[in-house]
Amino acid sequence: MVGSAIVRRLESEGFNNLLTRDHSQLDLANESAVAKFFAEERPTIVIVAAAKVGGIKANDDFPVEFLLENLQIQNNVIRSAYENDVRKLLFLGSSCIYPKFAPQPIPETALLSGPLEPTNEAYAIAKIAGMKLCQAYWHEFGRHFISAMPTNLYGPNDNFDLETSHVLAALIRKAHEAKVRKDQKLTVWGTGKPRREFLHVDDLSSACLLLLEKYDSPEIINVGCGEDISIRKLSELICDVVGFDGELAWDTSKPDGTPRKLLDVTKLRALGWKPAIPLRDGIARTYEWFRANSV
Ligand code: GDP
Repeated sequence: MVGSAIVRRLESEGFNNLLTRDHSQLDLANESAVAKFFAEERPTIVIVAAAKVGGIKANDDFPVEFLLENLQIQNNVIRSAYENDVRKLLFLGSSCIYPKFAPQPIPETALLSGPLEPTNEAYAIAKIAGMKLCQAYWHEFGRHFISAMPTNLYGPNDNFDLETSHVLAALIRKAHEAKVRKDQKLTVWGTGKPRREFLHVDDLSSACLLLLEKYDSPEIINVGCGEDISIRKLSELICDVVGFDGELAWDTSKPDGTPRKLLDVTKLRALGWKPAIPLRDGIARTYEWFRANSV
């Protein structure tokens, strides 16, 4: 989802010198394959958007894979970027790197100030290691490897699988299928009380370009829209956009995860960036994409 959005954005800005590989062409967890790719292609700028990602259930069920594969991918790519004199690298982390009970909105300074949310601790630890590796290359070797921490993302090419997806994509699928089947009820996980911030992936890609052009610091920087919404309100909004008018039921055997995750985006705003896609429009566009591509 993130990689294809960044490519769309770069192409629309007229870049015609992009080096991309999909998973079938290059396994980023394979150290020697990554080293060979970098030595042959010698990229100047690198964006590390690839990661093993998933929603609350996948993260909770498969901590080994989330920790190991993400460490492998980022270690291979970041080290190869160093060894092949990449001029600037942007590493994408996640808002789950912050402590479970961080102050809200979460400033970048909250990093490592308290225990993590257990349902995504493995992924968060990997992402913290990735941003720390970028900082280490900056401090030890003067490399301009920067790290951005995006909030919860959604948009075209999201994962709509009900077991492994994040909440927004899952609810689009659930509402669509409930509408088609004319169900009375749609089941949402947890209590509906947690609050999350959602950013359309096309907004993330515009922020990434701005950061590559204007941000030059080893300190992490948050990328978000600055507003959050409860899972209950999000569910109602998605049902409204999709056109499902049945009831919501709550499956409280599923975890809520962290109670709130809203990023403090003061630093990014000071660079002159703001999001362009309101949540309702973004959901409508994503639903359109889902209908055209996944059904
Ligand atoms: P998180 O931000 O890491 O917690 O990841 P998710 O996007 O997977 O979950 C966000 C919140 O949405 C959690 O409180 C979930 O319990 C809740 N949620 C409600 N229904 C669903 C669903 O069908 N799928 C997922 N992934 N989360 C859901």
